[in-house]
Amino acid sequence: KIKQIAIYGKGGIGKSTTTSNLSAALSKMGYKVMQFGCDPKSDSTNTLRGGKYIPTVLDMMREKPKVKAMDVVYKGFNGIYCVESGGPQPGVGCAGRGIISAVDLFKQQRTFEELEIDYVIYDVLGDVVCGGFAMPIRAGIADHVFTVSSADFMSVYAANNLFKGIEKYANTGGALLGGIIANSINEEYQKEIVDDFAKRTDTKILQYIPRSVEVTKSELQGKTTIEALPESKQAGIYMELAKRIEAHTESKVPQALEQAELREWSEHWGKILIDRQE
Ligand code: ATP
Ligand code: MG
Repeated sequence: KIKQIAIYGKGGIGKSTTTSNLSAALSKMGYKVMQFGCDPKSDSTNTLRGGKYIPTVLDMMREKPKVKAMDVVYKGFNGIYCVESGGPQPGVGCAGRGIISAVDLFKQQRTFEELEIDYVIYDVLGDVVCGGFAMPIRAGIADHVFTVSSADFMSVYAANNLFKGIEKYANTGGALLGGIIANSINEEYQKEIVDDFAKRTDTKILQYIPRSVEVTKSELQGKTTIEALPESKQAGIYMELAKRIEAHTESKVPQALEQAELREWSEHWGKILIDRQE
């Protein structure tokens, strides 16, 4: 059965990097994968295609009256199917429109069935700012939602907002939370912070990913680390992440913190870190 996964997280936190390495790792495990970039920047799949952009779903729809699903699907590393939903012209309409249009198109044309896809991975956005971006977590699209977060407060804040969104759609059949993919975790205190946040919100850390120069080297070549440096320790970590995603079955409703609780929680951690320094 097809597994559909949505990845959210604060801007610049490492969603596309993590998603692309996850797609690459799952495809190496023998699965047929589609990576679906939902960002109007349309750069999600770049490292699966030598750093190159592909035409977006919205671009194609503007150009052609009758777009076929295969017009917007491009092959990347190891046969991964790459899609970019794209965005509207600046200032016009909802930026989530492309996601909705593409999902509808694939449904109508039974694209997932035809391509025998095992995993669709949606690389979404930081904040669930409008209905379009909440699309993958609303009824019938993603089965599981994961958030990429570091130990930085703003990143945890964005994750907490996502949890609120998941709570909101949960009672109408929306996707549930699989857990947190902790990115840029190099120090023990960073691990403690994300662990504690996961505990407080009743979720789990799926994998800890360090910040690594191997990622930088790969990205500069327009590649994932799985492709560019498959023998590296970092590639091994992404392979492990893919195995955990493969094994993951049970997602649940998180317990988002109230604004004041989150504030208290962060102050508490501030004090702990200051005390340790003294
Ligand atoms: P946006 O919100 O703009 O789409 P994003 O969340 O998709 O951003 P990325 O583009 O994946 O973030 O990552 C931002 C930058 O951080 C990139 O240059 C990427 O190579 C780098 N980066 C992400 N994760 C790591 C890591 N674990 N080690 C080293 N560099 C990383
Ligand atoms: Mg991105």
